[in-house]
Amino acid sequence: MLNIILFGPPGAGKGTQSEKIIDKYKLTHIATGDLFRKHLGEGTDLGKLAQKYMDEGNLVPDEVVIGMVDERIKETKASSYGYIFDGFPRTVPQAKALDTLLEEKGEKIAGMIALDVPEEELKKRIKERGKTSGRTDDQDEAKIENRIKVYQEETLPVANYYDGEGKYVKIHGVGSIDEIFDKISSEIDKLK
Ligand code: ADP
Repeated sequence: MLNIILFGPPGAGKGTQSEKIIDKYKLTHIATGDLFRKHLGEGTDLGKLAQKYMDEGNLVPDEVVIGMVDERIKETKASSYGYIFDGFPRTVPQAKALDTLLEEKGEKIAGMIALDVPEEELKKRIKERGKTSGRTDDQDEAKIENRIKVYQEETLPVANYYDGEGKYVKIHGVGSIDEIFDKISSEIDKLK
């Protein structure tokens, strides 16, 4: 299996690039934000629990996220060539839990690809997305600011964690979608 983490701040383009990666490499997408929004839409207990955190741009508690990812891996493992993790892990405890989950299955993370985008560009993209996404967390300046702050404080250490394992690659995330995808592809090809 080829297991990759696509990393970056809110608005970095992880969702857009994930689509293209899945298409080319036939990986299974595990996007925790999408999974939470699906639960929310279906009105499950998990969705109700996650909503108050998501609405404020705060992180959903680690054990909830980890449980959901574990379940998703169990559901898909038999038919999967590998995973692209998008929006996960977002804390160091989540990263450690993911390593353990994969180890138990005789698997590991091949690498983390981090999209680097300046803060002003992120805010611009999120507000633009908010016009059509219907996501309330994309439409409020204070919530956007909070998500970027949470990213810097709680999520950036995850990059150091994988850097320490020699698995971190940074890619400049400004340019055309195809240009960025070409850079990502050449890094994935090195991991295969
Ligand atoms: P973005 O990358 O634009 O912030 P996501 O769709 O990845 O959006 O996530 C939306 C929200 O879902 C986050 O702000 C957070 O509340 C919650 N969430 C998603 N993934 C995680 C995670 N791995 N850990 C904790 N909370 C998460």
